[in-house]
Amino acid sequence: VSTPEQVTGFRSPRVLDRVEAGDARGFDCLGPSPEPASLRVVCWGTRGSISSPGPETVAFGGNTACVEVRTSTGRSIILDGGTGIRRLGAELTRREGPLEVELFLTHFHWDHIQGIPFFAPIHDPRARICVHAPPETGRSVEELFAGQMSRTYFPLPYEALAGSLHFFPVGTGVWALDELAISAFRVCHPGYTVGYEIEFRGLRVVYIPDNELAGDGSSFDDEWYARLVEFVAGADLLIHDAMYTEAEYERRRGWGHSTAAQAVALAASAGVKRLLLFHHDPDRTDEEIQAIVCAAGRELVGSGIELEVEGAAEGRELVVLAPDPA
Ligand SMILES: [Zn+2]
Ligand SMILES: [Zn+2]
Repeated sequence: VSTPEQVTGFRSPRVLDRVEAGDARGFDCLGPSPEPASLRVVCWGTRGSISSPGPETVAFGGNTACVEVRTSTGRSIILDGGTGIRRLGAELTRREGPLEVELFLTHFHWDHIQGIPFFAPIHDPRARICVHAPPETGRSVEELFAGQMSRTYFPLPYEALAGSLHFFPVGTGVWALDELAISAFRVCHPGYTVGYEIEFRGLRVVYIPDNELAGDGSSFDDEWYARLVEFVAGADLLIHDAMYTEAEYERRRGWGHSTAAQAVALAASAGVKRLLLFHHDPDRTDEEIQAIVCAAGRELVGSGIELEVEGAAEGRELVVLAPDPA
């Protein structure tokens, strides 16, 4: 069984693995320097469709979509509430300070919400939880959110949740909190589904877990793709749907997901620095994901495209750093 460490093998000057922002400054004998800006990205769940724990998914993980992004100033947001959010919730309740949660959902398919009933802050009277999500026609974000906790599906009454919940429909504007700015882009996926861009002091992470790119341009219009490239352009880190192999895609055209090659093509044309292949098929073993990542990397050799590609692995932490002023 491979480990996440074996799967990496790149080091970018701007994106370092498991490096504290402070450590990257190096020598401090010249006196204190201002804290460099950073975005810390933790994958709590990387799987698509349904959780898939087991000996074949140890390295990349079996929990469904959930990613945490934390700024060097201590602000934190959560992207999606798949089963990976359960462990994150347990950690949040142990952290010091007020229990304030900003949760951004891309859409309401099970694999993006199923961990929420077991997310400890919703049961914690200290918690204030803001849920941002695209609404559906005729249904509010709260209705969509509470549906999976109705009495048929969940034992506790929704009204009895101890945390205070607040709901915000995601639109086309920019949501800002201190120096953090988040904007959404409607993607090609059944229902009203978005991807998010997170920007902090010039550092940019783009999260698009479910999206059908269809490299031949047959299942979307070129104008949409051009706007998507613009949305993603120059991101320090792109986390993108790469659910299918090329052979699988031929049988699943129109299902709302992409291949690794399609994700690489988007990242390359948008000048992205680093791509995390995400939303792994539940049947995909660690070895198969590693093979997909290696094949994507081989395609880039000699292309002149400066893009690092790897597979999103549960528990993995990446730090996006501002470039060294020197
Ligand atoms: Zn999904
Ligand atoms: Zn979906």
